[in-house]
Amino acid sequence: MLKRTKIVATLGPATDTEEAIRSLIEAGANVFRLNFSHGEAEDHIQRAQKIRKIGKDMDKYIGVLGDLQGPKIRISKFQNDKVTLEAGQQFILDAELDKNSGNDQAVGIDYKDLPNDVKAGNHLMLDDGRIQFEVTKTTATTIVCKVIVGGILSNNKGINLLGGGLSAPALTDKDKQDIKTAVSMDVDYLAVSFPRSAADIEEARRLLHEAGGSSALVAKIERAETVNDESILDDIILASDAVMVARGDLGVEIGDAQLIGVQKRIIERARVLNRVVITATQMMESMIHNPIPTRAEVFDVANAILDGTDAVMLSAETATGDNPARTVDAMANVCQGAENQSLAKTSNHRIDIEFERVDETIAMAAMYSANHLKGVKAIIALTESGSTALWLSRIRSGIPIFALSRSTRTLRKVSLYRGVEALEFDPTVLARHDVNRLAVEELVSHGHVQNGDLVIITKGDSMGTLGGTNAMKIVRVGEVI
Ligand code: PGA
Ligand code: MN
Repeated sequence: MLKRTKIVATLGPATDTEEAIRSLIEAGANVFRLNFSHGEAEDHIQRAQKIRKIGKDMDKYIGVLGDLQGPKIRISKFQNDKVTLEAGQQFILDAELDKNSGNDQAVGIDYKDLPNDVKAGNHLMLDDGRIQFEVTKTTATTIVCKVIVGGILSNNKGINLLGGGLSAPALTDKDKQDIKTAVSMDVDYLAVSFPRSAADIEEARRLLHEAGGSSALVAKIERAETVNDESILDDIILASDAVMVARGDLGVEIGDAQLIGVQKRIIERARVLNRVVITATQMMESMIHNPIPTRAEVFDVANAILDGTDAVMLSAETATGDNPARTVDAMANVCQGAENQSLAKTSNHRIDIEFERVDETIAMAAMYSANHLKGVKAIIALTESGSTALWLSRIRSGIPIFALSRSTRTLRKVSLYRGVEALEFDPTVLARHDVNRLAVEELVSHGHVQNGDLVIITKGDSMGTLGGTNAMKIVRVGEVI
């Protein structure tokens, strides 16, 4: 059985060799995240080249996702790399302190406007909430805090404001530079960190186009204010090609107790609005050091899959962990277990919705047929842009969807779509009456279907045209097609 849920694995020092990348793909990774928060442009360019080369060798369409750092607010450095803070002590965040001179009394901050964004009584969460401060007083350049939860605080740790509301714009100068690097790498997906609204995504798209790129955009949902207002969230989703439930930062801003419900809502809204969704961060965290996941982690991954996520993501587990391939393998195993549950396969088929487009309607009809007609083993979407494959994959099902396309960009893009497999196929060079038969033969030759199986094909009369899908056909393998 093919794994339907896609795995996004972050590359880093633990997975820099060709063998490591290959072993992650063999274990079930579909998309690699290159995190612009760490490393130099040149590292990322090299990684992307390796991924493309290995994908080609392995005859697989692997996606590359470039993740912009965004305005992650961080402390600067300590003289001795880290300090230990005691609950109850005073500690100062000082915008004017030299960036390497932190000690157990004060540390510098990279975002100089931070003192204007917070006020006495606010709670600051450092290092993903492991350390917590309460603001007692601010001046133009300092934030005086009382340590509420102490512990070890080391260089460059992130700062979040409980409840959200930090004003830093989403695209920094570094991000603007990295967009150009991402274009030169021809990434399939570009993730925007900390967008405040749809306007931030539109701005990123404008910069991307200006730089000559056409990657799909991922909005990372990680600010409290974007999930507190339904219309802001919907607008961000609609402005993007995909969204990420960025639980690391979002969880710190809204609290994990709220996050579970918010995760379900983001996944649902993304699917309803025909967008792709990734669930990220601390999914298999204990496997950074341990050889097996905890039951809580297995259940967390499975829960996201039952919620309907397209992809689950690994961060430090594969970037710096001790067991990268083992972690992907364990995650793939959980994916298949969860996908087998009837909840993951049963759809209400948008029964109360009126459709506006012909291609969308064909996709919905195809999924209804696939889920209701006995013996259907595969759906083939002959697709130029991948949009039919996207619509098909918004409907819950256990039947695999094969996106057959001549466009490499499309074949790589579907690497993130749940339940969709990419196969290269160019119908425009074939005689019209041969297309269905040869498309089915493509699946037979890969072992996906056999004589007697039913296959549903969607395609357009004018193949090779964007949005042209207007027909569905049901054929039986082995009969005259
Ligand atoms: P990050 O984003 O790993 O870049 O912080 C994901 C998250 O916040 O969960
Ligand atoms: Mn984040």
